[in-house]
Amino acid sequence: MEKFDVIIVGAGSVGVPLSLFLSKEKFKVLVLEKNPSPGQGQNKAAIGGIRATHSDSSKIKTCLKSLEIFSTWKETYGDDIGWLKGGYLFPVYNPQDEKILKDLLLVQKSYGLNIKWIDKDEVCELVKGINKEGLLGATYSPDDGSASPLLSINAFYFKSKEYGTQFNFNEKIIEVSKKENFIIKTDKGDYESKYFINASGSHAKAVSLMLGVDVPVKPDSHPAGITEPLERILDPMLVDIRKGEKSKNCYFYQNFEGQIIFCLTPEPPQWGYDRKVSSEFLNEISKRMLNLIPGLKDIRIRRLWKGLYPMTPDGFPIVDFNSGGIENYILCVGMCGQGFMLGPGIGWVVSQVLTGKKTKDDDMIINFRLSRNFTGQEKLK
Ligand SMILES: Cc1cc2nc3c(=O)[nH]c(=O)nc-3n(C[C@H](O)[C@H](O)[C@H](O)COP(=O)(O)OP(=O)(O)OC[C@H]3O[C@@H](n4cnc5c(N)ncnc54)[C@H](O)[C@@H]3O)c2cc1C
Repeated sequence: MEKFDVIIVGAGSVGVPLSLFLSKEKFKVLVLEKNPSPGQGQNKAAIGGIRATHSDSSKIKTCLKSLEIFSTWKETYGDDIGWLKGGYLFPVYNPQDEKILKDLLLVQKSYGLNIKWIDKDEVCELVKGINKEGLLGATYSPDDGSASPLLSINAFYFKSKEYGTQFNFNEKIIEVSKKENFIIKTDKGDYESKYFINASGSHAKAVSLMLGVDVPVKPDSHPAGITEPLERILDPMLVDIRKGEKSKNCYFYQNFEGQIIFCLTPEPPQWGYDRKVSSEFLNEISKRMLNLIPGLKDIRIRRLWKGLYPMTPDGFPIVDFNSGGIENYILCVGMCGQGFMLGPGIGWVVSQVLTGKKTKDDDMIINFRLSRNFTGQEKLK
C-alpha cells in the first residue's frame, strides 16, 4: 500500500492551496478528488471576492494572510490570477445599518484593518451612478479585492504539483479507518498516511462520519451570474445588506475582464444539494442591482449558476487538529460563503502547525475549533 505523510480529500478552494504549502514544507502529500480536475466542486461557483473585513479576529487574520498570497502571487510566481485591488464598499441607506456597520468598524479597526466610514459625496465619487436617494454613506476597505477562482486554483494546482504533490482525480474516498496510521480506501485503491485532512467542502459531514466524527456542516444553495464585459465602471465590490423581498443581501463587482459578476443570498435559505438554476432569481437580483446602480439596466447576462455554501451554524469555519479525539485527523471544513478567500490563509497556517512553527492555538485559527458551542454569529456572513 502506498504511504504518504498527508492525505487530503478534496481538490477545492482549501485542499489545493493546503497541498501546496504542505508540499513546500517537504511533506509527501496525496490529494484525492472525485472530480476529473481541480476546483470542480464549489470553487468554480465562487465569484472571487476576497476581504479581510470580517467580525472575528481569527477570520480577519486568516484572510489578511490570504490577501497577502493573492495580491503578491503574480510578482512571486508569474501567473496572472486576475487579482484586482478594488476594495469592498457597503453602502448604507438606513440608520439601523449605519449603526451595525459603524459598531463593527471599531472592532475591525482594532485589528488594524484599513477600513473607514465615508460620507455620501465620497461614495458617489467612488461609485459613479450609485443611487443617491437616501444614501447615508458607506464603509470602505480599499485593500480588499478579487481574483479569478478558476485562474487562482489552476495556479495553485500547478505550483503544488511542482513542489511534489500527487493528485489523483476521478477517485472517490469511500472508507477511512485509523489504526496507527490512517487507511484510506477509494473506489480505485487503498492508501496509508500519518495525517488525514478533510477538505471535502459540502460533503464534509459524510466524509467525517466515515471516522465516526459528526461535523455541523450542511450545504446551502446560492445563485450567481455574470454579464457581458463592459468598459470599467466599477472598482469596489458592492455589498448591499438590506433585506429584499426574497433575499437577505446581494453583492456584485466588475471583474478583471470587465464583466459584472453578482450573487444573492436567498431568504429563506435553500438548504440541500440542488444546483439546478432557474431565471427566477434574476427578477430579485436585477431589481436590487438596478436600485443600487440604475445605469446597469441595458447590460446582457451571459450565464447563471447555483453553488453550495458549506454552512456551519455560526457562520465560521472549522479547523481542528485532533478532531473528535482522533489524533492527526484534521478538519478544514465549513467555509460557508468565504472558502475561496479563506483557503490560502488556512492552507498556510495548517502547514505551519504541522511543521511545529506555529501551535494549534494560534490566533489565526483559535476560534475555529470543533469543540466550540456554535452559538456565536458571524455578522457579515
Ligand atoms: C454563488 C457563490 C458565490 C461565492 N462567492 C464567493 C466569494 O466571492 N468569495 C469566497 O471566498 N467564497 C465564495 N463562495 C464560497 C466558496 O465557493 C466555498 O466556500 C468554497 O469553494 C468551499 O471550499 P472547499 O474547499 O471547502 O470546498 P470545494 O471547493 O467544494 O472542494 C471540496 C472538494 O472535495 C471533493 N470531495 C468531496 N467528497 C469527496 C470524496 N468522498 N472523495 C473525493 N473527493 C471528494 C469535491 O468533489 C470537491 O472538489 C461562493 C459560493 C457560491 C455558491
